[in-house]
Amino acid sequence: MRSVMAYDPQNIFAKILRGEIPCTKVFENEWVLAFHDIAPQAPVHVLVIPKGAYVSQDDFTAKATDAEIAGLWRAVGQIARDLEVAEPGYRTVQNTGTNGGQEVPHFHVHICGGRRLGRMIP
Ligand code: 5GP
Repeated sequence: MRSVMAYDPQNIFAKILRGEIPCTKVFENEWVLAFHDIAPQAPVHVLVIPKGAYVSQDDFTAKATDAEIAGLWRAVGQIARDLEVAEPGYRTVQNTGTNGGQEVPHFHVHICGGRRLGRMIP
């Protein structure tokens, strides 16, 4: 059975979305906000978050509308092109839940690029 944590409106990314905590914004539209990770693991390390209140990738894909899902993934592609990492390539990561190593309980996609990344699976 699926068990998803209740969304906590006090999580750090919710505060960033509400403008209560600053971020270095790189992109915003009706669906998403994207900003630089505070502890970058690559020359380009951006977090893309939906504006809706979703805990994780699991919660997002279960509950978000098709328009929200398309809006998020189109934004990810656009941001990668805008930041000039689409060529020669980049990595997206979505850590999901405890076993996935997720720390912030508001769904986010990491975009990492700007250098050749090491193998990461598992
Ligand atoms: P997770 O482990 O949940 O997939 O990733 C959370 C990410 O959020 C980490 O890469 C961490 O550096 C980043 N992060 C945590 N707090 C903040 C913050 O206050 N501002 C920004 N810009 N990034 C944060």
